[in-house]
Amino acid sequence: MQTKLGNLVLDRWVDGDGDGNVLTSAVDGEPVASITSAGLDFNDILNHARTTGGANLRKLTFHERGEMLKALAKYLMEHKKEFYALSTATGATRGDSWVDIDGGISTLFVYSGKGRREMPNDHVYLDGPPEQISKNGTFTAQHIFTPKLGAAIHINAFNFPCWGMLEKLAPTLLAGVPAIVKPASSTAYLTELMVRRINASDILPDGALQLICGGVGDLFDHLNCQDTIAFTGSKNTAEFLQQHSKVIAESVAFTAETDSLNSSILGPDAIPGTPEFDLFIQEVTREMTSKAGQKCTAIRRIIAPAEIAGDVVEALSTALGNIRIGNPASKDVDMGALASQGQRDEVRDRVKELSHEANVVYGGSDNFDVVDADANKGAFFMPTLLHCEKPMTSKSVHAVEAFGPVSTVLPYENLDEAIELSRLGEGSLAGSVVTNDNAVARELVLGTAAYHGRMVVINRHCAAESTGHGSPLPHLIHGGPGRAGGGEEMGGIRGVLHYMQRTAVQGSPETLTAIGHRWIKGADQHDPGVHPFRKTFEQLEIGDTLTTDSREVTLEDIQHFAEFTGDTFYAHTDEEAAAKNPFFDGRVAHGYLIVSFAAGLFVDPDFGPVLANYGVDDLRFAQPVNYGDTLKVRLCCKQKTLRAETGYGEVRWDSEVTNQDGDVVAQYDVLTMVATDEHWASVD
Ligand code: NAP
Repeated sequence: MQTKLGNLVLDRWVDGDGDGNVLTSAVDGEPVASITSAGLDFNDILNHARTTGGANLRKLTFHERGEMLKALAKYLMEHKKEFYALSTATGATRGDSWVDIDGGISTLFVYSGKGRREMPNDHVYLDGPPEQISKNGTFTAQHIFTPKLGAAIHINAFNFPCWGMLEKLAPTLLAGVPAIVKPASSTAYLTELMVRRINASDILPDGALQLICGGVGDLFDHLNCQDTIAFTGSKNTAEFLQQHSKVIAESVAFTAETDSLNSSILGPDAIPGTPEFDLFIQEVTREMTSKAGQKCTAIRRIIAPAEIAGDVVEALSTALGNIRIGNPASKDVDMGALASQGQRDEVRDRVKELSHEANVVYGGSDNFDVVDADANKGAFFMPTLLHCEKPMTSKSVHAVEAFGPVSTVLPYENLDEAIELSRLGEGSLAGSVVTNDNAVARELVLGTAAYHGRMVVINRHCAAESTGHGSPLPHLIHGGPGRAGGGEEMGGIRGVLHYMQRTAVQGSPETLTAIGHRWIKGADQHDPGVHPFRKTFEQLEIGDTLTTDSREVTLEDIQHFAEFTGDTFYAHTDEEAAAKNPFFDGRVAHGYLIVSFAAGLFVDPDFGPVLANYGVDDLRFAQPVNYGDTLKVRLCCKQKTLRAETGYGEVRWDSEVTNQDGDVVAQYDVLTMVATDEHWASVD
């Protein structure tokens, strides 16, 4: 009797009622596990996520959640051997499993780093600078993001049981939102194993993660406006779920990643014999065969210049002929099995459909060599290439997705036709262009980008480091318009914000400073009584302000700075030429001289808790400074970000340089690292 997969609900492992459906190995058809979620109380699951998981996660700052993701990633890395061993049963080769397992874990690492670098050590994320909405600045506005107070329901596809879960989980947890994961049944045993390890690690707080193996019962009937759904799978299922009465009535945020007939366009310059032609053949072959073509981003449509379409067919047929199919555990195998025999039959049917409008030019046969496995028991499928002679009028090649190692060559006569063919896919996750002609690249990208979530341009200069057509990266958005579902995931912090609510908050600068923990112009500024550079990170308060003495800028200063730095630009050295410039009346001070004098005015030179100045942000020179002008600086503690376990925190200072008339001549944020009490006590 095979194992029944567990459901992780209310922080306990629970078996569903009954025997459940049997899940079989893609390689030999033997049972691996059974699956059922019958009898679970889905309302309880949702409420546990909302009340326990959400509350626990929201206690943590973005940085603490980032640390949590890192700890989890490290823990999973230590257990990855187990995942690799079980992954074979899904039909995955070692390379395929690497994308799924290591790729998934690396998404946690990337989100951990981004959360700690790009988000504050706080509970609220500020969306851009304040908006000026009143004449005197006493009433202002700031957009903020806070975590949604519901559960994130993740419904995943069968092809990446680990990555599919982790790429959604990382941004969700970083946002401070609990997840309920529902993997696709056919490969859920691998997801379940990973969730068992996650649960055993005790790294996530209670309620942060629950797992449903099997159907979702009446879960959708209990959704509310704070819940989100992130779905990956077929367009039909997405449409069905999106029309659920609760999803509509409660405006539940629904992100869908669905079917995609991704295309790759070979530029007209990339004729046989060029590096780009070879790169194209390599890329298409890899995309057709990695994960046995069961990748939502795989190249399904090969758009090639008509005059060399025959060369493309020939080169691809040769490359596909070298692919060894069979037991994914074998070192002699390049391509494993499809996820199930049902899936294989489905792909076979789709090829039949395609072949009404395209000729099979390679593969398409049930008679092929299978290494180290029984072809009748495993879900093996021969890589299959089709050639459509009239792609502009064909329907099926742009609409039928054979979710396996299948792709069709579509010849084009000119770039307009290549663009039109790509668009006929009606919305894709990923597109690529292989050309060494950047004008062609621009024309193709601008012509097709509106139909794509991500585009990659490959040529000889970037090929060695290219991540390839079909690899979604946590840094970049994954999703696409139209047929691809209209959704967007990942994309760095963009993906985190999908699980948060953006709110425009209006009020006085003082109030908005208190809410966002970032000083806003017009809010209180106070003299701390000592130079603020004498204060440790903890002692500093937002609004602590230093107003400096003033200093005159002389002609000698400008002359000296020009000679000393070598910046003898005419506006600083030639009175007559400077006066011809529409912005100046005569020689003016260098912008960097103003910034340097400002530093000279505001620094406290003695050894102190300010450890270093690591840059400036948003530097603007608002007005020219002429010799004879007098400068003064106002330096205000604007924002503090503690770097846990480092002994310091980052302090951002609002810096405003004014002239003798009180006009702002330069404005910028000075970025410093300031010692914590503990660190300062140990060195002082
Ligand atoms: P599917 O049948 O739509 O299943 C996708 C997920 O939806 C599975 O977890 C499935 O669970 C679940 N599901 C199905 N019916 C449901 C319902 N009534 N209520 C709640 N959940 C339900 O898709 P598939 O055939 O497994 O996957 C292949 C398709 O996914 C391909 O067309 C491919 O293009 C697409 N895909 C897209 C992406 C992407 O990122 N855009 C990635 C991978 C795959 P069960 O397995 O338990 O039925």
